[in-house]
Amino acid sequence: MNDSDDDSLRPATKLVQGGRRAEWTGDPRLGGAIVNPPVWRASTILYDNIADMKARGHATHDKLYYGRRGTPTVWALADALTAMEAGAEGTLLYPSGVAAIAGGLLALLSPGDHLLMVDSAYEPTRTLCNGLLARMGVRTSFYDPLIGEGVADLIEPDTKLVFLESPGSLTFEVQDVPAITAAARARGVATMLDNTWATPLLFPALAHGVDVAMMSLTKYVGGHSDAMMGSLTATKALWPRLRQGAYQLGQAVSPDDCALMLRGLRTLDVRMERHGANARVIADWLAGRPEVGRVLCPALPSDPGHAIWSRDFSGASGLFGFTLKGADDAARARFIDALDLFGIGFSWGGYESLAVPSDPASIRSATKWSDPDPLVRLSIGLEDPSDLIADLGRGFASMKGSG
Ligand SMILES: *Cc1c(COP(=O)(O)O)cnc(C)c1O
Repeated sequence: MNDSDDDSLRPATKLVQGGRRAEWTGDPRLGGAIVNPPVWRASTILYDNIADMKARGHATHDKLYYGRRGTPTVWALADALTAMEAGAEGTLLYPSGVAAIAGGLLALLSPGDHLLMVDSAYEPTRTLCNGLLARMGVRTSFYDPLIGEGVADLIEPDTKLVFLESPGSLTFEVQDVPAITAAARARGVATMLDNTWATPLLFPALAHGVDVAMMSLTKYVGGHSDAMMGSLTATKALWPRLRQGAYQLGQAVSPDDCALMLRGLRTLDVRMERHGANARVIADWLAGRPEVGRVLCPALPSDPGHAIWSRDFSGASGLFGFTLKGADDAARARFIDALDLFGIGFSWGGYESLAVPSDPASIRSATKWSDPDPLVRLSIGLEDPSDLIADLGRGFASMKGSG
């Protein structure tokens, strides 16, 4: 049974039901059905006869054809993600989040086209624009994340796409997504959003006017720091181009990794609630510390993005930043090095907490990052927040200790 396409179901129920189609979880000849879609590993698919082989050449993404086009484990994950975005036609899976971003941009842009890219974008997204896309003759202009409907003034005759990321994953500016997507749509320009921070659970992107919602599933959907994948979920209008692009680039994901992602997806609702609640406790505590300059966390009422965040998002995830007032790089390193429970590492969204230094000033061009205080980014995991607070307290003590 699968009711995940039923839009009357609430998001938490869709996470449980998604992708569990009867034909993927059981066979009437065997009786019964398995709860989870099994791992279907395949390269070669065998046909009954030549006529069957020819007929299946026209098959789309949910018929067995050749391993690269996926198996039911892959389709189950794609299906479950599509169900989370009302108005979506389908979801494509890529071996990483960066591959999903590249897949979307390469499918939608051609030489001579102009791209509007948010200045707070994830750094590898910028690198792609300034590297491969520039080499292919796609021009990128970076824009202020807080531009809102003013994005209309930046749209040129050759502009084909506006790319958004909200909140920015280093600096946490909240974009006015409905205003930006409305301005783009009125001029026939498509929009794509990096929705890794919120996931469709906290921010259903297509319902806010976005045409293509991208996620690094590596982060919250996987949730356990042991698998990488990316996704694009798209409207009916853009789906065929994105799918052709993915086929032409040969993008394929492992069914084993899809099974891990499906396992993560089932608990996304409870994990996000705890990530958000823990992060809020720690953000509030940090805001009261004398060593802290600013806390960059849209869930805090004092945050400049709080009003739009409360209007558009149904909750917060566990990723935010803060600055160390008057500190230098060495003091920041002493602070982070002293932490025991926080790991030092890239990525985020796993069950375990992480802390990393980040330096946004050097990776901006449209806007200036003028805060001189060093920035720390925390990914708050599922530990007890009082233990994490004690750990951060040790960090502050070490920061002062051997100055
Ligand atoms: C990590 C990340 C990506 C890229 O995802 P990978 O799976 O690591 O390739 C894209 N966007 C944001 C905001 C990210 O944090």
